[in-house]
Amino acid sequence: MNTTELAVLLESVGVGDEMYRLICELYPLCRSITGNGVRETLCAVGRHVPLEIHEIPTGQQVLDWTIPKEWNVRDAYIKNSKGEKIVDFANSNLHVVSYSVPIEKRMPLEELKRHLHTLPEHPDWVPFRASYYKENWGFCLSHNQLMTLGNDAYEVCIDSSLKPGFLTYGEYLVPGERADEVLISCHTCHPSLANDNLSGIALTTILAKYLSQAKLRFSYRFLYIPSTIGSISWLSLNESQISNVEHGLVIACVGDSGKLTYKKSRRGDAEVDKAVLHALKHSGQEYEVMDFSPYGYDERQFCSPGFNLPVGCFMRTPYGRYPEYHTSADNLDFVRPLCLADSLLQCLSALSILENNETYVNQNPKGEPQLGKRGLYRGYPNGGSDDLALLWVLNLSDGNHTLLDIAERASIAFGVVKKAADALFACDLLRKIPNDRCDYTHPRA
Ligand code: ZN
Repeated sequence: MNTTELAVLLESVGVGDEMYRLICELYPLCRSITGNGVRETLCAVGRHVPLEIHEIPTGQQVLDWTIPKEWNVRDAYIKNSKGEKIVDFANSNLHVVSYSVPIEKRMPLEELKRHLHTLPEHPDWVPFRASYYKENWGFCLSHNQLMTLGNDAYEVCIDSSLKPGFLTYGEYLVPGERADEVLISCHTCHPSLANDNLSGIALTTILAKYLSQAKLRFSYRFLYIPSTIGSISWLSLNESQISNVEHGLVIACVGDSGKLTYKKSRRGDAEVDKAVLHALKHSGQEYEVMDFSPYGYDERQFCSPGFNLPVGCFMRTPYGRYPEYHTSADNLDFVRPLCLADSLLQCLSALSILENNETYVNQNPKGEPQLGKRGLYRGYPNGGSDDLALLWVLNLSDGNHTLLDIAERASIAFGVVKKAADALFACDLLRKIPNDRCDYTHPRA
């Protein structure tokens, strides 16, 4: 099965529901940049794909960073003087500021308020807050609830631990014909937030599961890492093999009903950038393209100037552009199976272009070859744009244009151009340029 046939299959097997079920399973877990919630998440993903789990010890130097202490939380609450739990971690892991140090103390409202976080502009929602690299503690609650709190002696308890341990991440390599890799990365560090980024984890997992059954030209490396420190760790540990990365995508926020958005790699004109833009242009949907900026997800690290990898970011509504972002409203109702399936199919459509983006040389370049005598003219397969695709492929197959270049120049969908090339190749009118001829180097600009 090739990647195009795979897309057709996926549409028919309820793949959106499969991703949604995984999101529901992972939603209750309390994830952070380290800790048991990440391990449990990777364990659940491991039931779909055979993940290799890496544990990097606290204190290890990774590029300019140091692996932090491991954080775990068992329980956390605020009780009023009647002993009633008014904020309870057991109801939602968003209630505790991620990486809160342990505390057990009675305090007046004025003191407590300095550690409470709310969203006055969305008074029913609970915000997501973290304090990874500065030791602190805090609770998040709805603004409406904060307004009901009177002067009282509050009992505050966070039963957490912040001590030497490990940073945990998952990795899975699907080997292809070539050692060159497509890097697919998602962040695993957010607690109960469905779109950011359980949607990315689910898409990455189902993509990995199905690609492992396909015949692939490239090898695919899937990374499940905490934001920033995870990609910095992976880059630090794998620096000697990074030149294998031929293309890459960071997958985030792919389950909401907004339009698809692609953020280009730092290079801006990498083959992956061209492939995703072509797939979106021919998707029949509205979409948005963002230029690279050094803010966002792990593309920031992959595209740092010392690596400058061809890695873009594939999203629906981008970070910070939807009000539910980093709040309790990014819940299981906010993501939809249909949107997840659409994101997966468009992603697969871009990967299919990369898989099939060969370069050919016309073997009959002096004048057009007589297509009729080869059964190709006006009959292949339905005439129209397909005939035109034959002529474009013959004309531009001079060894300097890939099929994607030709599709773009001709304004014809890649799949049609690929089919034309296959037909011409079958009649010996094209010769394939060996892959290594069109391999890219990795400039350290
Ligand atoms: Zn986030």
